[in-house]
Amino acid sequence: MKKIMKLFAVLILMLSFGFSANGAEKKEKLYVGTNAEFPPFEYLEGSEVVGFDIDFINAIAAEMGREVVVKDMSFDGLLPALQTNKVDVVIAGMTATEERKKAVNFSQPYYSANQVIILKEGDTKGIKDFADLKGKKVAVMLGFTGDVVVSEMPEVQVERFNAAYAGIMALQNGKVDAVVLDSETANNYVAKNSGLVLAEGKGEAEDYAIAVKKKDAELLKEINTAIDKIKADGTFGKLIEKHFN
Ligand code: GLN
Repeated sequence: MKKIMKLFAVLILMLSFGFSANGAEKKEKLYVGTNAEFPPFEYLEGSEVVGFDIDFINAIAAEMGREVVVKDMSFDGLLPALQTNKVDVVIAGMTATEERKKAVNFSQPYYSANQVIILKEGDTKGIKDFADLKGKKVAVMLGFTGDVVVSEMPEVQVERFNAAYAGIMALQNGKVDAVVLDSETANNYVAKNSGLVLAEGKGEAEDYAIAVKKKDAELLKEINTAIDKIKADGTFGKLIEKHFN
């Protein structure tokens, strides 16, 4: 009998240890895929990935009681990483396009942007709008919505780059006539580099949203609920102010 009691006590001790290890102290991780080359949404500060999207997903995860682990990778590798379970969600200033919706689900939209044209100041080649890109050498980023838009235009010489700053450098060095990029990131580059200007014409509006696997319906619901909460309690507004003003 005594032996059984002892065994019982040990069992309870083990159980309670297991409980505290999995419950209170250890939060379930949320693996987040991003591409830290898209300021002010995500970029590197030293070796740390920072930006609006990172603060936003941290606020969402906090609502869900989960801990964010950021995985930085190439933009065109993000959805494949999601599909193969390397990450739980993707947040990368990613536009919720119809094409992408075939492969993944998107949260409610959290930011509206459009494609714009960056030009070299004093050497704009007469480019004012998208129609003027005809016959021009235009830099886009591989797999971005800007790539899709420009690639559909006839008679445009498309030059694809892996990162926005590489396209900007090509423009500065006169290797391309224009760069097509998302508005907020374009504003960021124009503000931080001299000798760049934006063309007047803008592309259609597109919505950024968080991508999750098709099968993760519950996770999607939790994320949308958390976004509602963050928007209602003022956290979202504060993040917008912090990163965009
Ligand atoms: N919004 C664009 C897209 O979804 C670019 C996003 C990005 O570069 N991070 O393709």
